Amino acid sequence: MSSCLFCEIAAGRIKAEIIHEDEGCLAFRDISPKAPSHILVIPRRHLDGLNDLVGPDSAAADGLLAAGVMAAHAEGLAPGGYRFVINCGQDGGQSVGHLHLHVLGGRPLAWPPG
Ligand code: 5GP
Ligand code: ZN
Repeated sequence: MSSCLFCEIAAGRIKAEIIHEDEGCLAFRDISPKAPSHILVIPRRHLDGLNDLVGPDSAAADGLLAAGVMAAHAEGLAPGGYRFVINCGQDGGQSVGHLHLHVLGGRPLAWPPG
């Protein structure tokens, strides 16, 4: 019934290389990496994006950030550093409509982003 790509990955119906998982979140490798390490972290439960992290769903942010830190540790990024990115909506460059956190690292990252 679901036609959401990341819900399909969370359900195990579309394969992904899992880096970290816990009760609320799943972290897996991005299919088109923009850095030597590029991991996506998603809540298992569908949320469209950042704009949903208000009211009753605001607590999902805690779990997402914690899972991102765990994924960074698992990937060996913690000592050298890394970056979290969440694109939101059309102007923010969001292409998949299921909330996700990018964890990028493995090389020095330029700032500011485009
Ligand atoms: P956004 O542009 O929405 O912030 O990020 C979506 C990300 O999902 C992109 O970096 C893209 O490479 C990644 N992506 C798209 N389709 C797939 C897929 O089927 N599997 C995985 N692992 N990543 C995907
Ligand atoms: Zn979804």
